[in-house]
Amino acid sequence: MYMETLFSLSGMSSPVEIVDQIIGEAVRSKASDILIEPQEKEVVVRMRVDGVLQSFGVMPFGSYDQVLSRIKVLGNMDVTENRKPQESKIRFEVDDRAYVLRAAVVSTNFGQMAALRVLDMPQFSDFSQLGMEDELAEKVKRNISGRYGLFLVCGPTGSGKTTTVHSSLRHLNTGEVNIMTLEDPIEYIVPGINQIEVGEDVGLDFVSGLRTVLRLNPDVIFVGEIRDAATAKIAIQASLTGHLVISTIHGRNSVGAMYRLLDLGIDRYMINYALRAILAQRLMRRICKHCQETYKPTPSEVEIYTREKGTGPATLLHGRGCDLCRHSRYHGRVGIFEFLEVGETVRNLVFSGAGETEFAKELGLSGFRSLTSEGLRMVDEGVTSVREYIRTMFDAR
Ligand SMILES: [Zn+2]
Repeated sequence: MYMETLFSLSGMSSPVEIVDQIIGEAVRSKASDILIEPQEKEVVVRMRVDGVLQSFGVMPFGSYDQVLSRIKVLGNMDVTENRKPQESKIRFEVDDRAYVLRAAVVSTNFGQMAALRVLDMPQFSDFSQLGMEDELAEKVKRNISGRYGLFLVCGPTGSGKTTTVHSSLRHLNTGEVNIMTLEDPIEYIVPGINQIEVGEDVGLDFVSGLRTVLRLNPDVIFVGEIRDAATAKIAIQASLTGHLVISTIHGRNSVGAMYRLLDLGIDRYMINYALRAILAQRLMRRICKHCQETYKPTPSEVEIYTREKGTGPATLLHGRGCDLCRHSRYHGRVGIFEFLEVGETVRNLVFSGAGETEFAKELGLSGFRSLTSEGLRMVDEGVTSVREYIRTMFDAR
């Protein structure tokens, strides 16, 4: 193994310092996850940066025992429990800023593995930092400025949904409205907004949370996720009775998300009255500017590109890998978006009873900018690679 032993008690570091160093490094390099994994001979530390795991270093088992205890102490876990999985939250300060990490400890074949997810990731603070064009940001703002209606955001884990939602809430947070959220868990603390945590551990689900919140007559409600029929129904009702409701929903793209609402038993006419817009998004890694070069794509890359675009690729770029990008070939990320605004065209299509495929096709004919076309545009402009396009569009969970 080529990795250095970065974390060892034999040097100057105490377990406290090692944990500080690991979490500090993760936060500074904007990692979303830290995995501390016992292998046969040593313990490997990996971090997920820009959505992809990177090796970070190794530590001997002798150091790890105490490091693991430190993590358990931080999370108020049972230090003596070595078999059963444990989960909790850790509040941690790095460079005078507070972060929340979701920590899990679970036994694997070589010992207990620790997985830390950095929940408070101030990676992008607003729409434009996500890579959203001003014109689209204005459209989003217009759609959330009404006094009622439903605005949905969809995309897989790590697609920047939380950033979009919180940018929206911050935009609305003028001090003149009551904004209430139901989140599982609360990821960012936003001053001036009434945030409520839901989830099994707090004994509150989205539906009962929503009922409670509605009695307090808020102007804006954020519901963490619409994942069942009951939540969908009450969210729609709320959005038709003088509340602006923002939520996320599962779906490959905006059209898929709308059909998900139908699958959850929401009527077509309810969708037409309540739904304002759906924003679907992905985050793609940018090719490292320092080592980018033209290259010959593989036959399968050409095949997928051609199938998606309808024509073959011209010149394609990728990163060769260099010290600056830690040989990951990429540096930073950019958001791509698909915005389905419920206007006349969409309303007519919804009322026509069209199926998902037909709907998407008709929408495409009306000049709709889909995730596919936006992603391929990024490939054509050399911002990202075909490989990254495939990873984010097809492998995303
Ligand atoms: Zn590079």
